Amino acid sequence: MSLPRLSAAWMEAVLGAPVPAEPRATCADCAMCRPAKPETPAFSPGVKCCTYQPSLPNFLVGAALADPGTTAHARAALLRRIADRRGATPLYLERTPAEEADQEVGKAGYGQDPSLLCDYYDGGLCGMWAHRDAVCATFWCLSERRAIGMRLHMATKRLLGRVEELLAIWNVRALLPTRVGALVHLDDRPRRYALGELAGSRTGDALRPSTHRRVWGPWLGREEAFYRACAERVTPLSWADVRAIGGDALTGALAEVADARARLDAPIPAVLCLGNADRVTLPGGVGLVTERVPDDPLVVPAVVLDALALFDGRLVAEVLALAPAVGPWLRALVDQEVLGPPDGADVPARDRPTGALSPDDTLAVFRNFRASPLASQLDISPDGDVTWALTCGTREVRADAPDTIRLLRHVERGARGFRAGDAAAILDGGWPAAAVFLTGLVDAGFLQRRPPGPPTHIP
Ligand code: SF4
Ligand code: SF4
Repeated sequence: MSLPRLSAAWMEAVLGAPVPAEPRATCADCAMCRPAKPETPAFSPGVKCCTYQPSLPNFLVGAALADPGTTAHARAALLRRIADRRGATPLYLERTPAEEADQEVGKAGYGQDPSLLCDYYDGGLCGMWAHRDAVCATFWCLSERRAIGMRLHMATKRLLGRVEELLAIWNVRALLPTRVGALVHLDDRPRRYALGELAGSRTGDALRPSTHRRVWGPWLGREEAFYRACAERVTPLSWADVRAIGGDALTGALAEVADARARLDAPIPAVLCLGNADRVTLPGGVGLVTERVPDDPLVVPAVVLDALALFDGRLVAEVLALAPAVGPWLRALVDQEVLGPPDGADVPARDRPTGALSPDDTLAVFRNFRASPLASQLDISPDGDVTWALTCGTREVRADAPDTIRLLRHVERGARGFRAGDAAAILDGGWPAAAVFLTGLVDAGFLQRRPPGPPTHIP
């Protein structure tokens, strides 16, 4: 199992090594048809993870059409979508707006619903395997290095996705310069048909004929030839060429890959701290899951589970002196992101104030020593009921009363630190109610108490 040839060569140049193989993702006998966690919906062997319609950049469409290895089914599907103007723009052979909506709404049927199956799926296999886009090429349901392996895959996906955007635009600038304004945003982002960003294109599945004529210009009626010409331009590019074309637009994504790569190679740190990890009961014992690997529990012995609380900011050597059985599990616990080095933003447990919460205490969102992202979402039910949800890592807090919603929004704004007493003016019940609410969030691992002054906990 590997990346497609072009992206494999580019990533090998970026990483200085091949992208790690993922033997735990046994695609021929799909691992997700037998998920480890009983609560995880099993994939159907007839669709596996291909309940997804990719948006292929112009050069991958051309490469797939030019490759005799592309199956007859996939080739016919590519040509049919082009002929039907179904997302066929000079930048991409895209998902349609309806398919884009399915990707969100259809999450419930992901891995199961045959109506969501990719057009290029051919009898249990990908019909254009050698030319998959960044999303398909970097999707692994299970990683040998677990959560930190997933970090590398996600970073690779973002890098290759940005490369695809920039090269698709690079082709349009060269082959269709008069249509750049219609196809590219001023900040060098493609105008996506699937997202309704092509003016006048929202007429359902097919591009409106007038829009189709306008964006294809001199290549109208020769769309397949255009895609093939794009492939001929991109196929010989080395990573140095791609880097020069992408310029500063690739800097952020490259830094993310470098960070993910460094985590794979990093030695076990001198201090490790325990973040939030959910425990799941399995037939073979208790497993630990974290946000990047919610369906891939790491099963550890009870003696290791019991010792996790010792990772409170003290040296790993001290923990091992007290609980030597943890030693052989350290690497796996770091890989699963159950344990992480103190990152300067979170306070190790032993350094947090204890006792009853005081109005003068400082609280902050606990980011799990791995900078777990904080996200909020407003839901309005058909009956008009409003719920505000705040999530960080595997923890979620919900509120549906106006004052608790206001308080959660205050927590979000003050994620890096806020005075506990300020919540008293927000909740109807004043400080007593605020203290109960905030203490609950601390106990649930959503908030952490911070000592006064700047962080001093990193040895
Ligand atoms: S990557 Fe997809 S096909 Fe392969 S094992 Fe995982 S879910 Fe199954
Ligand atoms: S392009 Fe291939 S790998 Fe991607 S969803 Fe379609 S069939 Fe699956």
